[in-house]
Amino acid sequence: MEVKILSAKFDIENSHLLKTAEKHGAYSTLDKLFSMEPADVIEEVKNSGLRGRGGAGFPAGIKWSFLPKGLDKPVYLTVNSDESEPATFKDRYILVRDPHMLIEGIIICCYAIGCHVSYIYIRGEYTSQVKILQQAIDEAYEAGYLGEKVAGNDFALEVTVHRGAGAYICGEETALLESIEGKKGQPRSKPPFPAVVGLYDCPTIINNVQSIASLPFIIENGADAYKAYGTEKSSGTHLFGISGHVDKPGMYELPLGLPLMEVIEKVAGGVWKNRQLKGVIPGGSSTPVLTVEEAKTVTLDYESMAEHKTMFGSGGIVVLDETVDIVKLVKNLIDFYHHESCGQCTPCREGLGWMLKIVKKLIAGDGTRSDIDLLVELCDNIEMKTVCVLSAACTMPVRSYLNKFRHEFEAYAKDEGATNNDLAKE
Ligand code: SF4
Repeated sequence: MEVKILSAKFDIENSHLLKTAEKHGAYSTLDKLFSMEPADVIEEVKNSGLRGRGGAGFPAGIKWSFLPKGLDKPVYLTVNSDESEPATFKDRYILVRDPHMLIEGIIICCYAIGCHVSYIYIRGEYTSQVKILQQAIDEAYEAGYLGEKVAGNDFALEVTVHRGAGAYICGEETALLESIEGKKGQPRSKPPFPAVVGLYDCPTIINNVQSIASLPFIIENGADAYKAYGTEKSSGTHLFGISGHVDKPGMYELPLGLPLMEVIEKVAGGVWKNRQLKGVIPGGSSTPVLTVEEAKTVTLDYESMAEHKTMFGSGGIVVLDETVDIVKLVKNLIDFYHHESCGQCTPCREGLGWMLKIVKKLIAGDGTRSDIDLLVELCDNIEMKTVCVLSAACTMPVRSYLNKFRHEFEAYAKDEGATNNDLAKE
C-alpha cells in the first residue's frame, strides 16, 4: 500500500545533506524547469490536480493563477511550515529528511509565479528541524542553487527562514504574514486575499511544505505520472500521520483514496490490545469525528470525507479505542483552541472560554443536560461569526462529538444518574 514519492529519500542515511540528496536525484528537475515557460509550469501543476496539503485542499495551480498580472510590485512565496495542529506531524519529516526536495520545490514554484524572494515560516518549537533546514539552505546557496543565478540560469532567488514564536494561529495564512512583517500574529479580514494583497501589501502565494515538496516529482515526471496515484479528484500521494490507539503508529506515504479501515488494519497494525474501535479523527484535531460505522465506509480523499460531513484536513489520523472518554477528549480539544485564540473576536475569545467552563463543570459532576444544550447553542453562536476559522476548527469537531456521542455527555449530567461522576472525581 505504501508508496515512495515524497518519502523516497527518508530512509537514506544523511539524506538531509546536499551531497547525498544530489546522489539520489535532488535538483535534477532544474534543467527541464528552465527550458519551460513559467505559464507551462503552472499548467502542468494544474493538470496534476495537486491540492494544498495544509488542510484546505485548494488546487495549487489554480491558486497560483489568482496572482494579478502586470502589477509593478514584487510577488512573494511564503511556505507554511507552522505545523501545529494536534495530531499533525508530516511536514517535519520533509524538513529533516529531505529539505532539498522542499528547496527544489520552492525554486519550481518561484520560477512559475515570477517570485524572487521566498520565506519559509517555521513553527517556533521546531528547534532541531530549523537547524537542519538552515544548513540545507546554506548548502544550496553555496552550490549555486539559490542566489543571483539559480543553477547558472538568469533567475535570482533568495530564501529566508522565519521562525515563529509558538502560536498555532500563525499557521493561518494572514496571521503568518502579519508575523513575518514583525507584528502580532493575528488574522486579517478577507478579502482582499493574499494572492492580491499579501506580504508587505504585495501579491503573495502561501503554500504548505508538502504541497511545495510535491512539485519536483510533478515537473520531472509530468502531471499524468502524479495523477496515476489517487482518485480522479484527489490525485497523488499524502504523508499520513497515524496516531492514537494502533499497534504501529507512524508516518506513512499512501496514495489518496484508500479505505480508512484497511489503512488502520493493514498499515497501522489495527486497534491495539485487542480492543474495540470507538471512533476516528480523520485529519487532525479540527476535523469532525467519524463513528465506527462511518469509518467503515469512508476513503482517504477529499470527496469521501466531505460526503461523510468531515474533512481530509492534514491527514493526521487519530484512532480512538473503546476506553476513550469522549467528554475528557472534548475538554482537551476546547482547552487547546481557547488557549490559541488570538483574542480579537469576542465569540472566539469569550465563547470558547465558556465552552471550556461548561465541559469542566460536567466532568466535575456539577453539570446538567441543559448545559449540553447550551454547548450546542454556543457552537451555533460562534461558528462562522469570526475573522478566521480557528473558532470553527473547535466548534465543528465539538458539535460532531455532541451529535454522535451525546450519551457520554449525558452520563456526566447530574440529572441523568451521573454514572461517570465518581470516576471524574477520583
Ligand atoms: Fe483570533 Fe479567534 Fe478571531 Fe481567529 S476567530 S481572528 S483566532 S479571535
